[in-house]
Amino acid sequence: MATRMAKRDYYEVLGVERGASNDDIKRAYRKLAFQYHPDRNKGDAQAETNFKEAAEAYQVLSDEKKRKIYDQFGHRGLEGAGAGPRGFSGVEDIFSAFGDIFGGGGGGGSPFEDLFGFGRGRGRGPRAERGASLKCQLSLELDEVMSGVEKTIELRRQENCEECAGTGAEGSSGRVPCSDCGGAGQIQVSQGFFAIRQACPRCRGEGTVVEKPCGSCRGSGRTPMKREITVRIPAGVQDGTQLRVSGEGEPGRNGGPRGDLYCFVQVNAHPIFERHDDDLLCEMPIAFSQAALGTEVEVPTMRGKELLKIPRGTQTHKEFTLRGQGLPNVYGHGRGDLKVRVVIETPKKLSPRQEELLREFAKTEDLQVGPQRKGWFDKVKEMFD
Ligand SMILES: [Zn+2]
Ligand SMILES: [Zn+2]
Repeated sequence: MATRMAKRDYYEVLGVERGASNDDIKRAYRKLAFQYHPDRNKGDAQAETNFKEAAEAYQVLSDEKKRKIYDQFGHRGLEGAGAGPRGFSGVEDIFSAFGDIFGGGGGGGSPFEDLFGFGRGRGRGPRAERGASLKCQLSLELDEVMSGVEKTIELRRQENCEECAGTGAEGSSGRVPCSDCGGAGQIQVSQGFFAIRQACPRCRGEGTVVEKPCGSCRGSGRTPMKREITVRIPAGVQDGTQLRVSGEGEPGRNGGPRGDLYCFVQVNAHPIFERHDDDLLCEMPIAFSQAALGTEVEVPTMRGKELLKIPRGTQTHKEFTLRGQGLPNVYGHGRGDLKVRVVIETPKKLSPRQEELLREFAKTEDLQVGPQRKGWFDKVKEMFD
């Protein structure tokens, strides 16, 4: 039929079935792009041809509309409908077209991030740069630390301008050499006796600027947007921890990956429980009579209530340990304990009846001094002897 060289079937190029899912297509393309990537095939013309062929096939099959036309009418359908694949002028062009797949943005940990180094060292054109990191603060209650929690935070961050897809250029206008630095990307400034070179502030060291700035973002390529981001906070997280949410920072430049979002966790103080790493400490007042006679009391825990046996003759500030009733360890090493420290409370007010009984009791105490008091008095006596 056609006189020119027959074009290979796009599915065949990517090595996928005709009914392949979008994910399968993406995966197949990544694999080929990696295999034929120019950085790994220096000077191999065939590899570059394969790389471009794969990019073209992916460009069509990853686009629902184009794929439909291609499925029905083949290569000719695409040529006729004006929906044809744009020819790639070179490898650079492929990178700028598929910045998302190479750059990692949107999360998912693209293997290209590390392998391709975001296109560094390719020499020509604007350099891909990782986006700036963002910071946020999260405050948690202790019961959220107990269970782990998902928090949705709202923040404003720079996004790629929708009008110009982040290029900063109006319509199809391109980039022109920067007039301030003459395209060198560096300018000379004199400082005292010395002349030093520094990155040109106008083109940010890139050497080129957009020819006609996008009206929507005034050439910056960015627009601030409100975003809601859900952050998963693991159980047992410590106060002051910095959690990294990968890929939720600002978008990178020139196809570079997004920066990260760092969340600083602050755990609010609890009215009853004091935190010591994974252990919790709780001070519980008990009556003198309870301490003397022994009793069972209900103590609060993070998960409800537990019965605690207070033995006869318990002294003030005695600590009881409830194993495993603390916080979960953030690294999964079990749970901390809950320590209950009893504090014996002296009654500030007595009813006449209580006073009467206590006076009776006191008379008996004069006759029978407790061991602790006896020891103490003995030491005082020695001091003055
Ligand atoms: Zn410049
Ligand atoms: Zn714009």
